[in-house]
Amino acid sequence: MGMKSDIKLIDKKGLRLDGRKPDELRPIKIEAGVLKRADGSAYLEWGKNKVLAAVYGPREAHPRHLQDSSKAIVQCRYNMAPFSVSDRKRPGPDRRSVEISKIISEALENVVMTELFPRSSIDVFIEVLEANAGTRCAGLTAASVALADAGVPMRDLVVACAAGKIEDTVVLDLGKEEDNFGQADVPLAIVPRTGELVLLQMDGDLKQEELFKAMEMAMNASMQIYEIQKDALRRRYAVVAEEEKDEIDSAQEEAKT
Ligand code: UDP
Repeated sequence: MGMKSDIKLIDKKGLRLDGRKPDELRPIKIEAGVLKRADGSAYLEWGKNKVLAAVYGPREAHPRHLQDSSKAIVQCRYNMAPFSVSDRKRPGPDRRSVEISKIISEALENVVMTELFPRSSIDVFIEVLEANAGTRCAGLTAASVALADAGVPMRDLVVACAAGKIEDTVVLDLGKEEDNFGQADVPLAIVPRTGELVLLQMDGDLKQEELFKAMEMAMNASMQIYEIQKDALRRRYAVVAEEEKDEIDSAQEEAKT
């Protein structure tokens, strides 16, 4: 954010470097249930970001001193693969990944019915395979689909999206160059059913009216992303139902012989 460059981020027609209008999202694709050995999983592509989320649990929290006798804890690990960015990233946690893991855990705790699973842990792993700005939003959006895929009881999904400012214009969903050379980035996450805000961060500077405009833009776009999340889960359940039907059919066939 705020790096100097001669790159024109918006052209004379008002279009951005990748041809998007100010209020246009990058293309988003989500697939649920991609990992056999996780309790729930999701793969998400958001522009050039590629993110995998896996959920394990609820299971007994370890080490024991982490256990809460009144509810489950949601533990998230956000990790960027060394090959996910053009300058190889040093493997392992750093300040940024610890921060992102914390804010994602806290956002998810707002929707997971943790009170149903005392002393347990619900573990969420987010692996960024390719990064191109907006990975915390991509990771959180994928993680909530993975939690639903795991059958973890939730009040709703969480949807995340960012908006910001480039060339004095408020725009939705910043890409890599816009993130590097832009003026502000505001990632947020909402619970669509209630409109609750469960994550709000800001990098850079915005006037009050610009901040409100950016938030409104990101919240409206979140409703589009919510539909993509639900669609991924519907497709997943259609596959699961088909597999279960096949199992019942073959069991009946076996019983006959
Ligand atoms: N990035 C990078 N190396 C790093 C961390 C980040 O190249 O060690 C890039 C990556 O493309 C990321 C972008 O910078 O998506 C923006 O990072 P930021 O901290 O704003 O988080 P994000 O926008 O991904 O949520």
